[in-house]
Amino acid sequence: MGTELLTIGAFAKASQLSPKALRLYDELGLLPPARVDPVTGYRRYAPEQVERARLVAWLRRLGMPLVHIRHVCSLDAGAAAGEIRAFWARAEADTAARRDLAAFLIDHLTRRDPAMSPTAPALSLRYAAASDTGLVRESNQDTAYASSGLLAVADGFGAGGAPASAAAVASLRRLETDGVPADGLLNVLADAVEEAGRAVHDAVGGTGSGPREAAGTTLTAMLWTGSQLGLVHVGDSRVYLLRDGELFQITHDHTVVQSMVDEGRITPEEAASHPQRSLLVRALGPGADATAEMRLQDARPGDRYLLCSDGLSTVVPSDGLRRVLAAPGEPGQAVRELVALANGSGGPDNVSCVVADVVPGV
Ligand code: MN
Repeated sequence: MGTELLTIGAFAKASQLSPKALRLYDELGLLPPARVDPVTGYRRYAPEQVERARLVAWLRRLGMPLVHIRHVCSLDAGAAAGEIRAFWARAEADTAARRDLAAFLIDHLTRRDPAMSPTAPALSLRYAAASDTGLVRESNQDTAYASSGLLAVADGFGAGGAPASAAAVASLRRLETDGVPADGLLNVLADAVEEAGRAVHDAVGGTGSGPREAAGTTLTAMLWTGSQLGLVHVGDSRVYLLRDGELFQITHDHTVVQSMVDEGRITPEEAASHPQRSLLVRALGPGADATAEMRLQDARPGDRYLLCSDGLSTVVPSDGLRRVLAAPGEPGQAVRELVALANGSGGPDNVSCVVADVVPGV
């Protein structure tokens, strides 16, 4: 009474939603009309509902699912803004992951392996690995491994964490004897992670019944083809690349805290000291999401790679890593210094690192 209600046609025009969409949104409880005529069933809308309807239309254009829109519409403006920011951050992260996969496939399907070209200089890896219990933990559940064809770090957790990390790395070592073909590398990597997952499952007795502490491992590894490095990554161990004096972190942590950073809910500074920063969203182990990140790195002479468990990256800031890695010296010296840095910062966790240099020659 008093307010002039709009017909569904007039309201559709004002809100830029179709009458069909309006009927759907009514049924979903997203945008109920101000009044429904009990006899004719005609919907009538109040003019002040236009604003909400326009917001629904904008969020549809953004690609937000209807249940999510209903949630956003129930919030005050500040909280709604936060939800939209988080939604968009996830959309961008998904797009970035798909872009990486697309780049991988394009690269894969269009390029011949440079090592097959007679003019390509022969390259090889010079490498070292170290793993240390640290100063607080009673045992070492990390596994670090390096050879001329494989670099790997795995960080086991829970009861059976040590056998889990060892099993994950051992299952990749099978590829050393098979040799890694440059074409078909994507399939080789995908199969290898799946097999590593099964090996971890067996190692922690994932088929046993009864409640048990979650157990499993991270796995971050690089396979050498002679000209490229194929990377597989699950969890919060990391790969850094030192190229032309600059240090790049080339993996993304699969942790709850990193997701919160991606969604703009906390800052990277807050993440560094967050009490739950080691909580993983992906891992190898029973019940875990084992989706691996994969990518292909072209090897350049002079490149230096660092693979490390969180026992290093949590306590040594990237400045400190860069300083050690950029100093002249063999990989063996670098891994010893990195372990010493972690222990010099209290050594709160097991610490593992692998350092590999791309060098001319075979
Ligand atoms: Mn750790």
